[in-house]
Amino acid sequence: MNVIVLLGPPGAGKGTVADALTKRGVHHISTGDMLRQEIREGTKLGLRSKDKLNHGLFADDTDVITMVTDYLMAQKLDDLVLFDGFPRTLVQAEKLAELTQTTHIHLTTVLRLKCPDQVLLGRLSGRRTCVSCGAVYHDLFSPPDVHGRCDHDGGALAQRVDDEPATVKRRLDVYNRLTRPLVDYYRETKMLHEIDASRSSEEVRSDVLLKVKEFLP
Ligand SMILES: [Zn+2]
Repeated sequence: MNVIVLLGPPGAGKGTVADALTKRGVHHISTGDMLRQEIREGTKLGLRSKDKLNHGLFADDTDVITMVTDYLMAQKLDDLVLFDGFPRTLVQAEKLAELTQTTHIHLTTVLRLKCPDQVLLGRLSGRRTCVSCGAVYHDLFSPPDVHGRCDHDGGALAQRVDDEPATVKRRLDVYNRLTRPLVDYYRETKMLHEIDASRSSEEVRSDVLLKVKEFLP
């Protein structure tokens, strides 16, 4: 299994990059989506993680590592996989390095989306999510056809608890403190590609596709 790791603060456009790669046949694994699923289902792991996520903190390394490895072991993934939200800390990165030694997981590329905090705050404060299907909209950049209603199913649009301003600030702090060090960690491996994510989503998308071209199915 070939793996691309996607690093970037909240609001940098990881979802856009993931969509673009999914369309090109890449399998997308989002730990954020997996955790929100655990929370909806009320599993033990979900219950443990809920408060942390709602307060802009990370779930426990042990929980995330268990969740990801369990998932990977249950899959027959021979193709190219995008890790979105994993690793998020040095402990998780070291676990991934260990997995590449002991399993058929092969790390090919690390994409880092770079974006100033000011831009991120502007993007996140306008984000609205459909309560029924999870589709994401933005007041300025991608508003729905009908105000406050999802284009797909008419569901109500709400601000995710972790997109509230105080929580967003904390998420950025946590990212800078815990995930930012991964940039230096991966720079030494020569696998790191830095992408200016303050540009339009089209520009970011084509830049990303160019960077991973040789690995695409
Ligand atoms: Zn919807």
